[in-house]
Amino acid sequence: MKNIEHIGIAVKDLEISIPLFEKLLNSPCYKTEPVVSEQVNTAFFQTGETKVELLQSLTPDGVIARFIEKKGEGIHHIAFEVDNIREEMARLQKEGFVLLNLEPKPGADNKLVCFLHPKNTNGVLIEICQERK
Ligand code: ZN
Repeated sequence: MKNIEHIGIAVKDLEISIPLFEKLLNSPCYKTEPVVSEQVNTAFFQTGETKVELLQSLTPDGVIARFIEKKGEGIHHIAFEVDNIREEMARLQKEGFVLLNLEPKPGADNKLVCFLHPKNTNGVLIEICQERK
């Protein structure tokens, strides 16, 4: 795996959190993008090589809404960049990690993504992502 591509943070309300993170990072939100398949709206900030991705649920029972219900707002996942997502998925599966999606799926910000089950990663939800060509 390469660099940490982004850190995903679950928030209740992007309208509040976007100006908060703009102030915190002293960097403008460069994009908001809904990912309907994941029932989320996302907002991105560039901080050096790494991005911050804010995630707000589009529905009251979406995965981010349920996460916030259980744990409150906060860090939701860490995403590592890879060159070849299929190769990396095969490697991780061979190592015994559980993939939450067996096919790479389209994510926000022009990426193909795959998530690993946090039960095998010390409770941290890991995303691997590859730039779509
Ligand atoms: Zn992500």
